[in-house]
Amino acid sequence: MVAGMPTTAPHTSYVTCPLCEATCGLAITTETTAGGGEKITGVRGDADDVFSRGYICPKGASIGALHADPDRLRTPLVKRDGEWVEVSWDEAFAEIDARLTPVIETYGRDAVAVYAGNPSVHNTSTALYGAAFYRTLGTRNFYTASTLDQIPKHVSAGFMFGHPLSIPIPDVDRTSYLLMLGANPLVSNGSLMTAPDMRGRLRALRERGGRLVVVDPKRTRTAEVADEHHAIRPGTDALLLFAIVHTLFAEDLVDLGEVAEHVVGLTEVRALAEPFTPAAVAGATGIDADTVRRLARDLAGAERAAVYGRIGTTTQAFGTLASWLVDVLNTLTGNLDSVGGAMFTLAAGGQANSSASFSAGSRRGFRTGRWHSRVRGLPEVMGELPVATLADEILTPGDGQVRALVTVCGNPCLSAPNGVRLAEALDSLEFMVSLDVYLNETSRHADVILPGPTPLERSHYDAVLYQLAVRNVANWTPPMLASDVPQEWRTLLRLIGVVTGQGPDADVAKLDDVVAAEIARRSGVDVALADGRTGPERLIDLLLRGGPYGLTLADLEAAPHGIDLGPLTPRLPDVLGTPSGKVELAPPEITVDVPRLLGTLALEVDSGQMVLIGRRQLGSNNSWMHNVAPLVRGRNKCTAQINPVDADRLGLTDGVLAAVSSRVGRIEVPVEITDAIRPGVVSIPHGWGHDLSGMRTSVATAHAGVNSNLLTDESQLDPLSGTSVLNGIPVRVEPVPA
Ligand code: SF4
Repeated sequence: MVAGMPTTAPHTSYVTCPLCEATCGLAITTETTAGGGEKITGVRGDADDVFSRGYICPKGASIGALHADPDRLRTPLVKRDGEWVEVSWDEAFAEIDARLTPVIETYGRDAVAVYAGNPSVHNTSTALYGAAFYRTLGTRNFYTASTLDQIPKHVSAGFMFGHPLSIPIPDVDRTSYLLMLGANPLVSNGSLMTAPDMRGRLRALRERGGRLVVVDPKRTRTAEVADEHHAIRPGTDALLLFAIVHTLFAEDLVDLGEVAEHVVGLTEVRALAEPFTPAAVAGATGIDADTVRRLARDLAGAERAAVYGRIGTTTQAFGTLASWLVDVLNTLTGNLDSVGGAMFTLAAGGQANSSASFSAGSRRGFRTGRWHSRVRGLPEVMGELPVATLADEILTPGDGQVRALVTVCGNPCLSAPNGVRLAEALDSLEFMVSLDVYLNETSRHADVILPGPTPLERSHYDAVLYQLAVRNVANWTPPMLASDVPQEWRTLLRLIGVVTGQGPDADVAKLDDVVAAEIARRSGVDVALADGRTGPERLIDLLLRGGPYGLTLADLEAAPHGIDLGPLTPRLPDVLGTPSGKVELAPPEITVDVPRLLGTLALEVDSGQMVLIGRRQLGSNNSWMHNVAPLVRGRNKCTAQINPVDADRLGLTDGVLAAVSSRVGRIEVPVEITDAIRPGVVSIPHGWGHDLSGMRTSVATAHAGVNSNLLTDESQLDPLSGTSVLNGIPVRVEPVPA
């Protein structure tokens, strides 16, 4: 039942929406039904939420439908003789112990791979206890959706500022000039920038006389509300950014402002930028030299400015260079760590760059490549290997071969490159277990599926995303509805019991004490301070107590609309974790890749070559949310957008099927002709392709769409981060013969 409500009266609960990075406050009304159950009767934005102020998007408004989805699993499944059988939780763990333990004993821990999907970060249980499970398992075969997304930004932040989560966030509420590349926050609702209601925030920017400039191959919804839009050729953002850097030096516009004494590497950056003149990059980027020079002058001349790059800049061949250059520009223009510029959030708890051990001076800097993948020799980054090589590690025989897999809230068969090969690999495993609420494209390959509660049945504190917020805030959501499905933290502790040899019935309470003691140690607080609490409640209480504001969970429990901790404030030099104690403007680990970029200047641009990019959709979050009817109804959302010029040239008309093929695959997808897309570019959203057999996702299957990742090439990576190239893939587009 709803916490604290009478059994019959309508009741409103205030929850933080966990469905994307924006962390909006929702006001959810429930009533008790005649049968004694709880029915959700209304979902609206919480007007009193200190951060979102009533904003809500279609995904948040559909959280009731997600909760009530009859396809959601509520009982563990075990595959026996090819058929799924519902079993008790004890039976499921007995099966896991019987099959996973021998793999570890025979082949070692690296024989068990883990894949953690994007939703695992949006769930307090899986974010905190998942980390404990991965650490305890101790495998080097750890994979996440980050190598399909944002790892380049972590790498650039790690080498420049000393910690991969020290990412400068645009101070959108106070800036007067915002240059965005490869980002569409009006649809994505912000990413690596926790900021509810970006439409309202960008409107406010323009109303106070500010300027919004969008660089994107497509005239996105964000570009439509911008002052300027520049339709860049996909994958060339690093060239454009370097040309702006070049212009700043050439026209004597560099001014580091307040942070000058904390920055090293200026001379090196100047030298590196020398060949990237605006004229030299114009052919490749499609942006003329005069425009580049003007962008540089506008950026340097703005009173307060921020440069922000997102998925279009990270999921490409030069993702780390582009991510680095974004913050080089923020620094050269005096906007790093400056009000209205790009600033470092100071979260209420759990932020590594304000933790007790960080402050105590253990600033060892950032490293990658502490180990390498067995088959392709790809370097580890942040403890993980590129998911593009997971299939290699499973399919290639030899010492260290992956024999078992645990997936946590992930669907790599849709989100990773070459899903067909990955699916073949999953079928060859000796054992696979999925923590997932759906029997989907990936979990259908598992031997055991362990479901979890719905977002309304668990507590929530966005331990990760508050570290990237445009304002310092904290908000706690207790479980709104009771659940008959165990919380994921309990499931993960039972898995810890299995992989530590304690068997399927390990003492969960004792394991929880161990996790809490470790969190307390890292937070620099006494674990006994959170006495009386268990699970995520205890961990969040400890993280808050060790945080910079000295909050407790009780403080947040008394503030159902959240606590506003104020605007971002300058944090240099304390935030720096580089061994030099400085901002490393030209870290050699990054600049080593500049010659590869330089080499692209000599390449002829083939004007007839089509390239593929993805696109975000308001009703989707990657591959999830497609089984929620209100979000997929209406016209087919999985289309290939193409410019009228290309459509004419290729003989395509609106609505017909086009065959799109790449080195690795071919798909057929309906054409949508729009002049919003740059000529030479075709855009297909990812996360679709729900037409496979053996799934229990009736709504998604009825709106299957096509898996665009059948075209993405697992051999194409940003070498510094291991991130797959998902934007700028050469493809052939042609009509499907009648
Ligand atoms: S923008 Fe994100 S957090 Fe806000 S309501 Fe939508 S899905 Fe939820």
